[in-house]
Amino acid sequence: MIDPYKYVNNKPYKLYINGEFITPKSGKTMDVINPVNNKSFARVYKGGEKEVKKAIKAARKAYDNGPWGKMTNLQRSKLLLKFRDKLSERREELACLEALDCGKLYTSTFYYELPQSIDAFEYYAGKARCLEGKVVPVDGGGNYLNYVTWNPCGVVAEILPWNGPLMMGCQKISAILAAGNTVIVKPSSWASLSLLALASIFDEVGFPPGVVNIITGSGSLVGDMLVKSKNVDMVSLTGGTETGKKIIESSAKSVKNIALELGGKSPNIIFEDVNLENACKWALFGFTLNSGQVCVSGTRIIVQESIYDDFIIQLNKLCKNFKLGDGFDYEKGVNFGPLISKEHCNTVLNYIEKGISEGARLVTGGKKLEGELSNGNFISPTIFADVTSHMTIFQEEIFGPVVCISKFKTEEEAIKLANGVNYGLAGAVFTNNIKRGHRVAEKIKAGQVYINTYFSKGMVESAGTGWKQSGLGVAGIHKYMHSKTTFVELDDNVNPPL
Ligand code: NAD
Repeated sequence: MIDPYKYVNNKPYKLYINGEFITPKSGKTMDVINPVNNKSFARVYKGGEKEVKKAIKAARKAYDNGPWGKMTNLQRSKLLLKFRDKLSERREELACLEALDCGKLYTSTFYYELPQSIDAFEYYAGKARCLEGKVVPVDGGGNYLNYVTWNPCGVVAEILPWNGPLMMGCQKISAILAAGNTVIVKPSSWASLSLLALASIFDEVGFPPGVVNIITGSGSLVGDMLVKSKNVDMVSLTGGTETGKKIIESSAKSVKNIALELGGKSPNIIFEDVNLENACKWALFGFTLNSGQVCVSGTRIIVQESIYDDFIIQLNKLCKNFKLGDGFDYEKGVNFGPLISKEHCNTVLNYIEKGISEGARLVTGGKKLEGELSNGNFISPTIFADVTSHMTIFQEEIFGPVVCISKFKTEEEAIKLANGVNYGLAGAVFTNNIKRGHRVAEKIKAGQVYINTYFSKGMVESAGTGWKQSGLGVAGIHKYMHSKTTFVELDDNVNPPL
């Protein structure tokens, strides 16, 4: 078995600003807690006001006057590829740090999240060289040339959540850099370790000072300063909807670009004509991956009346196959990890209580694990049946391994239930009727829909967007860019139409 602690530094991890590893003026640190046992295993320095100012100044200077802006897309692309190679060499170390910090399964971190992180740099290195614009045939009798080009936004603040900081961080940072921006990354205080470790690769590879800055600290101070600063051109948040709302408000004075990837409460509609066993397996995967801490989790399963009882029996049976524990104990068959923190575990338990008190039927789970694992934040997969749309657990994002099952008779009823929440991040439909599959997928109000499967098959190639309260902004590299439309007069003898 791998010893992940061999990769952990004894000294606190420093911030990375302007190409230097920085100890904040305050000297304050934060403990890095392993969610498996709630023990601290490392420390990271905590950024404050001074460091935010320093990071903004560095990113601004690197964008406005530094070598980054003068580099060609090809040169930037080559740096991204160099980064990819170094990240690939250190993938075991980074998978260990990420899995320790977030309580993830080591195998899924090493075999899925790391390859995805590495691939993002490869993909966007290619994209950096394909940022084509277009020529638009405007009406002008051939006298006018009009073309549209894409330009970087400038200094981008990327604010990250804790549920997959490395993979999400890599996907965002590579796109931001490929677009030609400079970046200030602020990871979540609950999961900063892997991003701080990543700084040494940016340094080694030779990104010019100030192009990438990584700064820790609270959302209410560090995040808020980034959002309010006039010298930050764009804020991109991946986080909860409430945080997104605050950012909309606090960015108002500086009228900057904002892109928000927010929470979800995604429906998964199962029609009676499916292969029940297969649909159950996908439904299970849809709400239990990463212990339910995935924004696009399929947390509302909407099942047709005639298969409703059988579906619940089968799903319940499958839930018994999970072995909870330390994600590094894969040789002992552990395939389900803890929730990120005690605090978050309590939030999830409160939702479970609410579900019970509002009359939902608890089929399985619903409790924090006792015994050997009682020091960790373990809640086994929890199924609620007979959930109706007025219940809190149907409406609100729980962000844990809790699924709500509701019954429908007709297609219209299923669609109404699916769309009956404020979120619109993802959704799925299972049916063997090809027409119905597409018809229902088209009616689900969400930025990402799966038919007879669950989860994205190409996060960078075909990124989703959040509809309704699940987000703002376009997907992919253009999220971090401005378009410019340019008109050229081709005829020397044309006067203005006065
Ligand atoms: P969160 O909103 O609590 O925090 C996200 C980040 O925002 C953190 O770095 C935090 O410090 C910062 N922040 C908090 N308040 C801020 C403020 N006032 N100004 C600026 N920054 C502030 O979210 P979380 O608990 O870390 O992550 C879980 C949430 O993220 C869930 O709702 C989940 O659905 C969502 N999420 C969405 C996506 C997506 O692609 N749509 C992906 C992953 C996670």
